[in-house]
Amino acid sequence: MSMLDRESAVFIHTYKRLPLEIDRGEGVYLFSKDGTRYLDMFAGIAVNALGYAHPRVVQAIEEQTRRYIHLSNYYLQDSQIALAELLTKHSGYPKIFYANSGTEATEGAAKIARRWGSSRGKSDLISFSNAFHGRTMGALSLMDRPKYRDGFGPYLDHCFTIEFDNPSSLRKAVTPSTAAVLLEFIQGEGGIRSVSEGFVKTLKELRDHFGFLLIADEIQSGLGRTGTFFGFQHYDIQPDLVLMAKPIGGGLPLGAILATSGAASVLEPGMHGTTFGGNPVACAAGVAVINEILEKGLIQHAADIGMYLLESLRALQTAFPKRVREVRGFGLMAGMELLGDGEPVVAALRERRILINCTDKTVLRFVPPLIIQREHVDVTTRALREALAD
Ligand code: PLP
Repeated sequence: MSMLDRESAVFIHTYKRLPLEIDRGEGVYLFSKDGTRYLDMFAGIAVNALGYAHPRVVQAIEEQTRRYIHLSNYYLQDSQIALAELLTKHSGYPKIFYANSGTEATEGAAKIARRWGSSRGKSDLISFSNAFHGRTMGALSLMDRPKYRDGFGPYLDHCFTIEFDNPSSLRKAVTPSTAAVLLEFIQGEGGIRSVSEGFVKTLKELRDHFGFLLIADEIQSGLGRTGTFFGFQHYDIQPDLVLMAKPIGGGLPLGAILATSGAASVLEPGMHGTTFGGNPVACAAGVAVINEILEKGLIQHAADIGMYLLESLRALQTAFPKRVREVRGFGLMAGMELLGDGEPVVAALRERRILINCTDKTVLRFVPPLIIQREHVDVTTRALREALAD
């Protein structure tokens, strides 16, 4: 019986699994059980920033596991504190709260926003079309795509989703009752689409005028992937709360909310919490990931190699104008929008031993480990050229 048959027999059917049986990963490669090597340009959905089995991450996990795997948040835990010190120092945000996942970071931020707004007569939360913030009810209340929401309502009150990157929609939506605006400056699941400078200028003006919290969802774009520590740093604005997850636990479940002192001060002991959030092993792995990223200059590397990736993809756009609509992205968060379904191209690349995925039906998404080199980009674009020519 194949793994797929065994899985289908017992799982609630929520995932479309790939027809691959993976044995192990090493660096930028995954190896299937039959010994085939795949170049992973997808990195576990932008999680594996350092690729697979990175010795520094493995060592950190081993060492922390021998000391203790879990204590509970009644205890002070040094790996939690070490990671918090690193994240606050390098992000410029003074305060942190740990969650277990991206969606929990979204929930926590929505609660901070509501609590912050409660003493100011503000309760509205504004979010944007095509965004993705997670699968819990709060996160779904801040999204619009039927694919994720249909049949699960009713949702939270006072949540308004408006058109992405449309300054006039934003002007109409923001009022004195607005507690927070939640934004992926560079949308991931939504198809690697980013906001314009003009939109950010309007956002800034409105925040100065009305006073609301700006929450940046950096769960996919954060920690160097786009060539800056956070995606929003491509713009001239400073959010109040920043959501992180995916790469910060080195592959272990970990989410975080970074906050200004003002936003952080609305929570007091007992108001918010989690059993597992800030798991010490995940935090130890996170310390290893961030130190490696900083010491090896991987943020600048993501900017440089990302530029090379985008140029290579743009050359394919020129070569295949009838197949490629647009290439866009920042650093190693790149998308190629096709003029048709992306899944056959993803499958054609898989046949050529390269793993990517397709988001928003037509957008090929490239979110590789930050350690990839030019040769990996070349292999990918050569295979893509063949796939597009077919
Ligand atoms: N926000 C963004 C931008 C994401 O890309 C994701 C996951 O893909 C999430 C939130 C939700 O994260 P999680 O799946 O860890 O709950």
